[in-house]
Amino acid sequence: MNDICERIKTIRSRIYNAAQAAERDSGSIELVAVSKTFPAESIRAALSCGHLDFGENYVDEMCAKADDVREPDIKWHFIGHLQSNKTRKVAETAHWVHSIDRPSIAERLNRQRPMDLAPLQVCIQINISGESSKSGISPADAATLARVITSMPRLQLRGLMTLPVASNDPDVQHASFARLYCLSEGLKRQGIKLDTLSMGMSNDFEAAVSEGANLIRVGTAIFGTRIQPTS
Ligand SMILES: *Cc1c(COP(=O)(O)O)cnc(C)c1O
Repeated sequence: MNDICERIKTIRSRIYNAAQAAERDSGSIELVAVSKTFPAESIRAALSCGHLDFGENYVDEMCAKADDVREPDIKWHFIGHLQSNKTRKVAETAHWVHSIDRPSIAERLNRQRPMDLAPLQVCIQINISGESSKSGISPADAATLARVITSMPRLQLRGLMTLPVASNDPDVQHASFARLYCLSEGLKRQGIKLDTLSMGMSNDFEAAVSEGANLIRVGTAIFGTRIQPTS
């Protein structure tokens, strides 16, 4: 087994243990391998052990890799900041977009999603820590955007995503994830259908699992340290 497959196996067992500790079913927790800045070779290495979900932050890089890898069952998760001039490529290539943060982006993706593809699976990105440097909408605006997306036939609203303030303090990590969980439960009580909490990365996914994450996005702990950021 190659190193990347070994690391995926390790992450899966850590997810399993964190889920057990939280009395959750680990089978409901999906792992997205964040391959940004890594070559198609790294993706092929993960595919060789059956891993099919990959996360990318940069549109051109995602599309180039999708062309290169050409695996029919692969699922591309776009997790980066999305500019309106790049939505078409995302609508044509991605299976998921985790970073919807304004109605105009949702409208473009809905209009541009090709009819021969399934609806695009989307999450609303929430700025849970309120830092001005982070993208995402404020929790207070989430319900309005959720209703806008729900009315769009080519998008399927799945849930919420967050990228909290980076911290090694478990209390801080838990608090951010718990806030996203509460926001999601509040929206569900208002009748908005959501089944996904996209939260947790290499340094904090165990805290995220204990707070209810069912989709975690892990890059460094699978592919190694990113050397050069692209774009
Ligand atoms: C880069 C990135 C990740 C993965 O981060 P690691 O710390 O490398 O695991 C997850 N989510 C988003 C939105 C990212 O940009």
